[in-house]
Amino acid sequence: MPANRELAEQKEIFAAYLKKKKLKITRQRQVILDSFLKTEGHLSTEELYNQVRQKDRTIGYATVSRTMKALTDSGLAREIDLGDSRSRFEPLYKRPHHHHIICVECPKTIEFLSPELEQLQEQVVSHYRFRPVRHHFQVFGICEDCQKHRPARHEDFDSDLVFARDALRIALQTEKNGVNFYQSLAKAATDPRGRNAFLEMAAEEEKHLRELEGEWEALVKRNKRVLKAPVFLHFDYNELNRLFPSPEELQKRHVEQLSLEEALHLALSMEQGAHRFFKRYAEKFNDTRGKAIFQKFAEEELEHCELIQKECDRLLGPSNPPLQH
Ligand SMILES: [Zn+2]
Ligand SMILES: [Zn+2]
Ligand SMILES: [Zn+2]
Repeated sequence: MPANRELAEQKEIFAAYLKKKKLKITRQRQVILDSFLKTEGHLSTEELYNQVRQKDRTIGYATVSRTMKALTDSGLAREIDLGDSRSRFEPLYKRPHHHHIICVECPKTIEFLSPELEQLQEQVVSHYRFRPVRHHFQVFGICEDCQKHRPARHEDFDSDLVFARDALRIALQTEKNGVNFYQSLAKAATDPRGRNAFLEMAAEEEKHLRELEGEWEALVKRNKRVLKAPVFLHFDYNELNRLFPSPEELQKRHVEQLSLEEALHLALSMEQGAHRFFKRYAEKFNDTRGKAIFQKFAEEELEHCELIQKECDRLLGPSNPPLQH
């Protein structure tokens, strides 16, 4: 469920829209708006109508239908076609862009986001010199439960929350890779100055790791159900291994033979790569909690760059290549 502040922001947007259209904010419209904003998933007009009737018997189907049209026009909702020939709507405000996998035999739908898929369609669209306005991607199929003739279980989740969960998972894994990376560099270092510098960096990564773990616990504690939601953000975890090579990979690269200068430069280029990667990654998303997590994480990686740069200046003299981002 969205936070109270977001609820209030959406009500303001709707009020401003109604005012512009010279429409009144009736009690009935308020009830419909409240019901819609507090429900997750993809509500049909019928489902919403049944919900609001429990609160106010005077609300008619046509009012629900018209209000949903107004909500769509005001940018707070979007109409989606899940192939069941019903008008369905989902909240749009600060929700991550996503696509649907829809079971044709039961009401199950999965929402997902894949940056690779987004990139591919951008390439194709720009090949034809189109300026994209919007796109939908729906896959119809038979879910696992239906294939096995099991009773279908279905729950709707708040996509923004699940996106935040997946963003935190990726950030946590990156920090863990970072800790391992510096510990391996420290272990391999023959120069005690290098060993100390890398141990300090490992401690720094560890500190960030603890902070992220704290954020993770807070998120899960507030929303226990969020762990049950299917993966929303499909991320290529091999990317992380390119950012921070694993201890095995470092061994293959004979990291123990690196000079102090080479080892520091390796660390610097890894941190710069991580910062650039997460900065660009965050830019791909619309305004959501998941985006904010990646942005903050990119800033932390920048702090690591600066720390390593300082170590380079201190141990090797200031003649080194300057920091680039
Ligand atoms: Zn199914
Ligand atoms: Zn959806
Ligand atoms: Zn898309």
